[in-house]
Amino acid sequence: MINKILEYNREFVEGKKYEPYATSKFPDRKLAIVTCMDTRLTELLPAALGLKNGDAKIIKNAGGILVHPFGSVARSLLIAIYELGVENIMIIGHTDCGVQHMNVDVMIKEMQERGISREVIENLKYCGVDFNDWLGGFDDVETAVLESVKLLEKHPLIPEKINIYGFVMDTGTGQLIEVKE
Ligand code: ZN
Repeated sequence: MINKILEYNREFVEGKKYEPYATSKFPDRKLAIVTCMDTRLTELLPAALGLKNGDAKIIKNAGGILVHPFGSVARSLLIAIYELGVENIMIIGHTDCGVQHMNVDVMIKEMQERGISREVIENLKYCGVDFNDWLGGFDDVETAVLESVKLLEKHPLIPEKINIYGFVMDTGTGQLIEVKE
């Protein structure tokens, strides 16, 4: 699998197929998007938003949510705001998300079946890793998006003039529905 990718990559560079993608590190639309790693959104999301290379910083994780106010997503957003000129943030959840209704107990069972010992898991719990908090899913995507929006609105390191919006995208059609309280 990886060989095919490397072979394609050589052809891509040799054929100068990179030329249409030339841009700078500063997002032209002054926009950052936090969204899910779902593979159905890889091309659909930028296409449905009319975004091209260079327009927006796109930060992805499982679910497209801020799990922690000082975690990697918040860190990326702060860099986007202070170093790269971002003024608008869109949190975009989506329908039929794999993180919805995810069961941590099932995942832990799966870990054990794949050779992670019960002791390791118990030790991590003892050291303060809350598996439900960290790996748990959400029940309702609108609520999850809204929680991330609120977390950013109240974030002590995000300036007031940054605009923060929440949306749910239809995974089939790419339609955006704004999420508000
Ligand atoms: Zn998802």
